[in-house]
Amino acid sequence: MTSFDELPIRDDLRGLKPYGAPQAHVRVELNVNENTHPVPADVVDDIMRRIHVALGTINRYPDREFTALREALAGYLGHGLTAENMWAANGSNEVIQQLLQAFGGPGRSVLAFPPTYSMHSIIAAGTGTQWIPAQRDAEFEISPATAVAAIQAHQPDIVFFCTPNNPTGTPVSVETIAAAYDATEGIVFVDEAYAEFAPEGEPTALTLLEGRPRLVISRTMSKAFAFAGARVGYLAADPAVADALRLVRLPYHLSALTQAAAEGALAHTPAMLAMVDDIRGQRDRLVRELAVLGYTPYPSSANFVLFGGVRDPQDVFDKLLAQGIIIRDIGLPHHLRVTAGTEAETTEFLDALAALDGSIN
Ligand code: PMP
Repeated sequence: MTSFDELPIRDDLRGLKPYGAPQAHVRVELNVNENTHPVPADVVDDIMRRIHVALGTINRYPDREFTALREALAGYLGHGLTAENMWAANGSNEVIQQLLQAFGGPGRSVLAFPPTYSMHSIIAAGTGTQWIPAQRDAEFEISPATAVAAIQAHQPDIVFFCTPNNPTGTPVSVETIAAAYDATEGIVFVDEAYAEFAPEGEPTALTLLEGRPRLVISRTMSKAFAFAGARVGYLAADPAVADALRLVRLPYHLSALTQAAAEGALAHTPAMLAMVDDIRGQRDRLVRELAVLGYTPYPSSANFVLFGGVRDPQDVFDKLLAQGIIIRDIGLPHHLRVTAGTEAETTEFLDALAALDGSIN
């Protein structure tokens, strides 16, 4: 069998590993931070109707500017944003890739604060952007002073934040993001994939956009909106950022079916987000009950919980999987991450974990 290393592949890709979250279809799937509640049936019906309409002109290319979708996304985010501030792509992963294609690339660097979302460094590698990891403070936090010191030390072209951070659940304050912005002349990118799960009233980086044309904030419909299979991510920024991304996106990158489905989902925002409170409740329950079991869960503003104190993460992962429950070993020694599911799924996970002998460090 030929390995890709034997092909005339780019030297900087040799030896790298692709994104590899295991994709087992089992009874209780709490491994990739999806919303485990299905889309309500009446919303499915409306989306089907919209897709039916879109199929009527599917012989034609879709609206390259996805104008109706950008208007709907701006309306959803509020904060005085308009369609001109919005950009979307096939998942926020593609949004991030386009951002690095336009603002990163060979000879440029991105500064980030691991542990963070694994795709950030993989997209940096794919676009030939140098990845510079910086230290967090205790408890995975990033103070304004820590962010500014890292920026001054490395002078990156782009700074990445993720709030709430995957895999730790830790929020990054608007003070840290504002301080980072003032310390760099580069792009400051904030991945807010899990923003809807943050405590009510916690300010988002969207409140900082006004007057900061180098600040870029991405969101996704994959998490709170329960729409991961549709692949819709988006960003909010100065209209000039969207103009820059038009240079690197492929024409018609959002299919007519994707646009119709996303517009349908956004037209039913309250129904689509109805389970967010429930998920927050299960997340808080996970933090409480994991501590009672003797593990060390971290506080989380997202729909998942990272917990330490695991003697052998691979062993616990395997034993849960054997019972039809999949969670995530993110490669942090003695840690595992679990998504907050429905009440029944969360109960199954907690009961199965409690029944494992000798798994606490
Ligand atoms: N950002 C973060 C922090 C994530 O955890 C994820 C998905 N796990 C994404 C972005 C990508 O989401 P999508 O491409 O589905 O929008």
